[in-house]
Amino acid sequence: MRCCPGPNKLLSLLKKARDAVGVAAAASFTSPYSSASLAAAPKVASAMDEIQALKTKVCIIGSGPAAHTAAIYAARAELKPILFEGWMANDIAPGGQLTTTSDVENFPGFPDGILGMELMDRCRSQSVRFGTQIFTETVSKVDFSTTPFKIYTDAKTVEADTVVVATGAVAKRLVFPGSGDGKGGFWNRGISACAVCDGAAPIFRNKPLAVIGGGDSAMEEATFLTKYGSEVNIIHRRDTFRASKIMQNRALNNPKIKVLWNSEVVEAYGDGEKGPLAGLKVKNVVTGEVSDLKVSGLFFAIGHEPATKFLDGQLELHPDGYVKTKPGTTETSVRGVFAAGDVQDKKYRQAVTAAGTGCMAALEAEHYLQEIGSQEGKSD
Ligand SMILES: Cc1cc2nc3c(=O)[nH]c(=O)nc-3n(C[C@H](O)[C@H](O)[C@H](O)COP(=O)(O)OP(=O)(O)OC[C@H]3O[C@@H](n4cnc5c(N)ncnc54)[C@H](O)[C@@H]3O)c2cc1C
Repeated sequence: MRCCPGPNKLLSLLKKARDAVGVAAAASFTSPYSSASLAAAPKVASAMDEIQALKTKVCIIGSGPAAHTAAIYAARAELKPILFEGWMANDIAPGGQLTTTSDVENFPGFPDGILGMELMDRCRSQSVRFGTQIFTETVSKVDFSTTPFKIYTDAKTVEADTVVVATGAVAKRLVFPGSGDGKGGFWNRGISACAVCDGAAPIFRNKPLAVIGGGDSAMEEATFLTKYGSEVNIIHRRDTFRASKIMQNRALNNPKIKVLWNSEVVEAYGDGEKGPLAGLKVKNVVTGEVSDLKVSGLFFAIGHEPATKFLDGQLELHPDGYVKTKPGTTETSVRGVFAAGDVQDKKYRQAVTAAGTGCMAALEAEHYLQEIGSQEGKSD
């Protein structure tokens, strides 16, 4: 885990660039994720601006590995996809969750690892290379009640024969002194929200670690981390877990796992001014006592929020907000609308699985277009 601009820093950089320049962006600019291209950040449409109407065979919503893989496949199939990459949608930069991390070491093809931002930059370039039209706008509304489907942003209305929803999810994070990515913060320097992604990093090897949470994910992440850490402390603010019994038992029977019940982290501190995470101040919420826990890694396992609000009930969702798909496919409850990536995956949540389902969505969209006889002709 190397230090890189985290989401807050990136957000403020992007906002500054947008305010300073205020030019509209489309596919013409090359790299929204690297600082070199920040000047091309978009302007928010004003009431005076005309709403542009477009038509396409495939509209892709999102900009993570799922969206770009879908775009690459659809574009190579000459479907001329339109992709809305969002503008700080859910406070995440275009490019998705990987723009909030440093080294990605488990994406095939990069034996030495690659920065999350650079990986997404490359995915975007590949989408553009094959003719995807990209707009840096957030989709605010959709209408899937009739075909063609309608997709709305502040500046555009798109009619699409088929839609791929790949808006991802946001890993929840807690805020306390030392938790951020600014000065004095340990985000990406010992604090992470993904044990599977970061657990094997050398800074965590044979070191005491901690996991915050009490659900199935927390049990799974803690158990997973025992492969690497010398011990794993689960910090939970209640006196019982809400995780399933089987997951609890697996964690509680692991000799490397300890539990700090009724506890919450109030501060993370480092080893000297520039050193990595060295420990946590942990408060017992019953007694008020604050104790010191020496750890080199802290993992948030407090859940994810899928980005589905803009769908406004038009696709069937699971109770926790994830889009329901027919098992083994990316088909949603609406024929012709497909969902790929973390927005429909609460289990694996990895870049490579998101890319895999992005590929599935594009191929299924292409078959659907053939079925409805809409393969010929061009997008506007
Ligand atoms: C800190 C961290 C580290 C990680 N490290 C790794 C790793 O090392 N390896 C790995 O495989 N995985 C890693 N992951 C997980 C990986 O990032 C995700 O599984 C993957 O990014 C999911 O891709 P996705 O395509 O579903 O969408 P996301 O990456 O979630 O991106 C979705 C995008 O859609 C945009 N969007 C949302 N709503 C709208 C809208 N209404 N209109 C337009 N755009 C919208 C969002 O702004 C976002 O940019 C990590 C995750 C985190 C949080």
